Amino acid sequence: MDQRGNFYPGVNVESGSYSLTSCAERNAFAHYMALAPNDAVVVAVYIASSKPPEPLPCGACRHVLCEHLPQAMVFVIAGDRAPEYAGDVSDFMPAPFVGPTVGR
Ligand SMILES: [Zn+2]
Repeated sequence: MDQRGNFYPGVNVESGSYSLTSCAERNAFAHYMALAPNDAVVVAVYIASSKPPEPLPCGACRHVLCEHLPQAMVFVIAGDRAPEYAGDVSDFMPAPFVGPTVGR
């Protein structure tokens, strides 16, 4: 969700090969990159699953989110429970590799 309340949703796209699965978090980030105005700032990332336990991002998603959205807060939603604050994106990857050429 950006600072204006706009959402950029993503869904998991599973693959039988597992390694080609594309996670909802990274798909949502790609959606944001494709459609958000240049001044949009992601302030919150909501990660939802249809049932408990609370979903948490995989390592690849943690890296992408931390590299591009370290300022965002992460909320998890399990089933019909209310969103729970899980920490800032940077809390999920305390010592990330972020190269100097990375940017929007
Ligand atoms: Zn992932």
